[in-house]
Amino acid sequence: MRSEGLKRCYQSRTPPHAAAGVKSAQPQPKTPRRYVFRSAEVDERDGIPGCVIAQYRRCGKPRCRCSRPGEPPHGPYFFHYWRGEGKARKRYLARGDAPRVAALCDRRRAHRADARTTKRLIRRFDRISSEILELLERGRP
Ligand SMILES: [Zn+2]
Repeated sequence: MRSEGLKRCYQSRTPPHAAAGVKSAQPQPKTPRRYVFRSAEVDERDGIPGCVIAQYRRCGKPRCRCSRPGEPPHGPYFFHYWRGEGKARKRYLARGDAPRVAALCDRRRAHRADARTTKRLIRRFDRISSEILELLERGRP
């Protein structure tokens, strides 16, 4: 289930070979965790806020291959970033959950874009309506 937004969301903030100084990598959980934001039904319908971003990291262990020059860092590790209660939030995602969470983020973004378009159309309709009323009033003897 790869969507356009998923690919966009998967772009890395710290590309390979440029993530030096990033300390530890979180271990991969053995089984993908189910990720629920509000409730499974509401999440599926409305989507969830935020974006999924892939990151690469160097573990910092001196003997690890990632510490050698020219070697790529570990990853990608997937994180869900969102704003909640006025705070920037970040959550590690199991690799298996990342596509689903990214799709839910895309869904919410699409819903909000639709809502903005609807609001804009309503405002325009209101303006045109009052212009028509004004013209009708003026036209009266
Ligand atoms: Zn390493």
